[in-house]
Amino acid sequence: MRPLSRDVEPVTHDEVQAAFDRERHEARLQRPHDLSEARAQTVQMYGRLAALQADVIARADIAVACTRGCHYCCHLRVEIRPHEAFVLAHHIETRFSPERRARTVDRIARTLERVASLSADAHVRAGIPCALLEDGVCSVYEARPATCRKYYSVSLKTCRDAFADTAAPLTGELEDEQLRRTGNAVALGYAQGMEDAGFDTGRYELHYAVHKALTDPKAAKRYRRGKRAFVSTNE
Ligand code: SF4
Repeated sequence: MRPLSRDVEPVTHDEVQAAFDRERHEARLQRPHDLSEARAQTVQMYGRLAALQADVIARADIAVACTRGCHYCCHLRVEIRPHEAFVLAHHIETRFSPERRARTVDRIARTLERVASLSADAHVRAGIPCALLEDGVCSVYEARPATCRKYYSVSLKTCRDAFADTAAPLTGELEDEQLRRTGNAVALGYAQGMEDAGFDTGRYELHYAVHKALTDPKAAKRYRRGKRAFVSTNE
């Protein structure tokens, strides 16, 4: 019988704290000089996040339910930080054909219109698909933000039920606590280090942030100067 993950080599509070401190220290020390460095360092952080979570999955023998093509969670509200938005925008700009890029920007803009009138709470489970989903698969998988990377479901049923009835309260198993805390330690530690280094680490709704990163030429300049990266035109 598969042992319960919480009974097997639990990840200690000290380990989680050490991951947070390490990320914070690294980000503060590395202080990117330009957007290209900021993107590269963020991608490196994603690699460390993946490695650490893979280690926890193996150590605790966690039965992850996520599979390619399963995208229930891609209908939830996602918030990202500027360093993540610039990685996504760069991926779309450099990896997509001009036609695919235009279609993606259009989908992002249309989704943005749908979510603009919703409060954050109403958007969380409104069942609106992420504009970066293409034929049920994440089109930016290699560049996806930390929120998407660190989320692992342990119950397909919970995800399916939540998707089927977005108004019903969330019940059942969803995430493994050790995995959740480890993923958060890396992403939040890195964000704290970037904030210490003087960069905007505010959380923005995904479509808003990516649209701004793709279409506002001043966003990168503001970010490099330590100002709020994404602002609406009347700010
Ligand atoms: S960025 Fe990719 S993984 Fe994240 S919600 Fe959108 S489609 Fe899903």
